[in-house]
Amino acid sequence: MTQLGSPTKPLTVAIVGSGPSAFYAVEALLQSGHAVEINMIERLPTPYGLVRNGVAPDHPKLKQPILVYDKIARSPSFNYFGNVCVGQDISVSQLSTLHHATIFACGAQTDRRLKVPGEDLPGSHSATEFVGWYNGHPDFRDRFFDLSQEVVAVVGQGNVAIDVVRILSKTADELKHTEIAAHALELLSNSKIREIHIIGRRGPAQAKFTPHELQELGALADCEPRIDPNDLDLNSESKIEIADKMSRNLSRNVEILSRFATSSGSSKGRRCYFHFLRSPKSILGRSRVEGIRLSKNQLRGQAFNQVVEETEDLIDLKCGLVFRAVGYRGVALDSVPFDEERGVFPNTEGRLTTKTGNDLHGLYATGWIKRGPTGIIGTNRGDSVDTVARLLADLPNLDDGEKRGVVGLVEHFSARKKHYISYLDWDKINRHEIQAGSLKNKPREKVTRISEMLEIATKSIDEN
Ligand code: NAP
Repeated sequence: MTQLGSPTKPLTVAIVGSGPSAFYAVEALLQSGHAVEINMIERLPTPYGLVRNGVAPDHPKLKQPILVYDKIARSPSFNYFGNVCVGQDISVSQLSTLHHATIFACGAQTDRRLKVPGEDLPGSHSATEFVGWYNGHPDFRDRFFDLSQEVVAVVGQGNVAIDVVRILSKTADELKHTEIAAHALELLSNSKIREIHIIGRRGPAQAKFTPHELQELGALADCEPRIDPNDLDLNSESKIEIADKMSRNLSRNVEILSRFATSSGSSKGRRCYFHFLRSPKSILGRSRVEGIRLSKNQLRGQAFNQVVEETEDLIDLKCGLVFRAVGYRGVALDSVPFDEERGVFPNTEGRLTTKTGNDLHGLYATGWIKRGPTGIIGTNRGDSVDTVARLLADLPNLDDGEKRGVVGLVEHFSARKKHYISYLDWDKINRHEIQAGSLKNKPREKVTRISEMLEIATKSIDEN
């Protein structure tokens, strides 16, 4: 019998999503030695997920993996279907009918909630919205942020919070040659923000940002970081934590924060204040954000297992905007089981399961929808290699019937008059953006409306 994955019977795989974990899954499949056909399905016309829409525009090095993804996408075994929403334009069961296996790499598309009163007041925004907005994500293009406010609170002390703080702190000159979206640059250029408060529920030794990102806040043209030196008095358990060899990032964070605390003031126009051991209890205001109420916290427990204990001691901080950067969260999709608590698809080492742990034949997950929103871009490579290894180990048990793959997808979308974007169409959009950017000395000027993307894709190469 012809073996699935052999040249006469290629393994057809659908991959849902087009971010790092999706491309690393494609790479692992291409390198597997099996004959494969891979069809990537992406909700937006544009590929690359968070590398395009999440990585900050002033961090171009972090966008370099796109060069690798682009090379992968040129493989003759790869097809791209952008502007296709799974669950709307095609169902998961239809994908399964057309493929031997489906890998979900759809990331964590929304934000975790703070679950405090006032969270939805005008002026309280999730980092997801703000990051999407400055990166030109079409879903967030028309959001408005009232940057006429002078005082802002950013809740959370991870790298996303640092990105938000840095973009709010930078001058127009620092941003104008990055690939920041034009609408965002315009509003940020007129920002009246003077004070940014970055609020963490644990101590300086537990903050989740990485030293490189933290250090950047000390080198901004017109913003100075500030910390009350008393906030850097660590309890003995935290001292044990940062002395541990495995906690180099934590000890480096504390060193950098100590430098910020002792730096002699400057005449910079903006200040970024770090607050530790403070939890948001409510966002204050009648018809819009007027402040944030914080509890003072203590750390309790043994080193490496300290937990936050909120006290009755409350303080109010006046501010006109709040950004909640407390982590991302996956969203449910079509008929796929969803773990509401963790915001992931239930899985065992990448094999999707029902909520009760039964294997869902031929369905897999990788990246943030598999393990939750942690780690850097490169973390997804190992994750996708693992998931693909499970898929390949399952080959003898997969339904090895005839699968129509790309041909079936094209027929499906043509019958529904669905305008999907191929990788060659993306090439046109990409070229258009790079050309528009070159006129402004930017790496690219992003197209931020889906209608415009589709229009560019339909033009002939000469017209673009
Ligand atoms: P994160 O690293 O998990 O940080 C979330 C922050 O929110 C933590 O400080 C967390 O505090 C806090 N938090 C969570 N729930 C809270 C609550 N109810 N009240 C108050 N604070 C709360 O998440 P992230 O910043 O969204 O980043 C996601 C991933 O992307 C991370 O792995 C990050 O490193 C990565 N990333 C990397 C870069 C880069 O490399 N430049 C840039 C952006 C993002 P606790 O620690 O106490 O839970």
